[in-house]
Amino acid sequence: MNRPEPVSTDTALDVERVRTDFPILQREVHGKPLVYLDTAASAQRPEAVVEAVADFYRRHNANIHRGVHTLSQEATEAYEGARARLASFINAPSSAELVFTRGTTESINLVAQAYLRPRLAPGDEILVSRMEHHSNIVPWQILCEQTGAVLRVIPIDDDGALDMSAFHDQLNERTRLVGIVMVSNALGTVNPVREMAAAAGSLDIPVLVDGAQAMPHQAVDVQSLGCTFFCFSGHKMYGPTGIGGLWAPMDVLQAMAPYQGGGEMIRKVTFEGTEYNDPPGKFEAGTPNIAGAVGLGAAVDYLEGLCMDHVAAYEASLLDAGTARLLDVKGLRIIGTAPHKAGVISFTLDGIHPHDIGTIIDHHGVAIRTGHHCAMPAIAHFGLPATARASLGLYNTVAEFDRLAEALEHVRAMFA
Ligand code: PMP
Repeated sequence: MNRPEPVSTDTALDVERVRTDFPILQREVHGKPLVYLDTAASAQRPEAVVEAVADFYRRHNANIHRGVHTLSQEATEAYEGARARLASFINAPSSAELVFTRGTTESINLVAQAYLRPRLAPGDEILVSRMEHHSNIVPWQILCEQTGAVLRVIPIDDDGALDMSAFHDQLNERTRLVGIVMVSNALGTVNPVREMAAAAGSLDIPVLVDGAQAMPHQAVDVQSLGCTFFCFSGHKMYGPTGIGGLWAPMDVLQAMAPYQGGGEMIRKVTFEGTEYNDPPGKFEAGTPNIAGAVGLGAAVDYLEGLCMDHVAAYEASLLDAGTARLLDVKGLRIIGTAPHKAGVISFTLDGIHPHDIGTIIDHHGVAIRTGHHCAMPAIAHFGLPATARASLGLYNTVAEFDRLAEALEHVRAMFA
């Protein structure tokens, strides 16, 4: 890989101010100031999100919908208000098209079982890429076992970029869905999902986009992407865990079977037959994660306040500078060198197991992830069982990459 020139990280994002919004960044780990480079696993939360969740429980907590009392109405307004803010954040035409789920994993399982399962016959094909997170592989494998459909895989090259000509060749009259990650959590690759959705769309093939790692790094516009399904997780975008979403156009949601049965997803229940609610309620059986939705709404407000274009510009220059800094470490090899990347630097250090790297640098206050990153096939492509991964968020700085590089020098010295 050509080494990028270090670049200035002066942009419209005032990172020092941003850092003060995140209380956890003030803490120490093993007596050293925390350097948190594990945002791809889960982002930290700004005070505004922590406070929104706490305020909900302190002042407004009650179950939502159908309650006549004041607290229930306030809770319903907060929950539905969060849905509306999220819908507008991803430029969904209507907030009724946004289904709250537990996160990306549940959203993909929902599409697999409620949309695709009734539409599959033996020999039909589902197309995913080699760089998918397990949550965009295993639900389709389960579905293939259930229906006799076949999972096909778009290959990647040695930079970790998609083989687009293979993708175009693999699309055919048996393809029933394309599932593609927008930003790879293991390699950082940004995929050309708009181009892929256009190619599949011209053959009337629906496209599911796994947006888990895209949402924290760039503005997302589901209409301009042209996909059929867009899935994301709150905790990757500075919101709470246990909440996320699925967007799909209303006619697609209406044509889908229910996913789980229970309260809230019905209009009328008798033993003679049950009438289902309209979307999104039809897919939100049971009491949802109300406080989580409220917290996610606060995360959206926070990100909009910063402006996603400023976040993207800042992070792009930080990724370049961080990559350059890490390449100064002798024996370090970056895994995932696609021309278009976001947020993630996966690497190995000659002869040192990634778990040893992660454990040792934790003692220097530096938090990174090591392992297969729930993307075993992607990592196996490089002949590896595991990598170390530094992943960045809008609160990270070049100085923190200096701390990481120094900690890695300590690791190297220990194994010399
Ligand atoms: N897809 C990608 C690209 C991810 O990074 C993750 C989380 N690591 C997921 C899907 C699954 O998200 P969740 O665990 O929040 O459902």
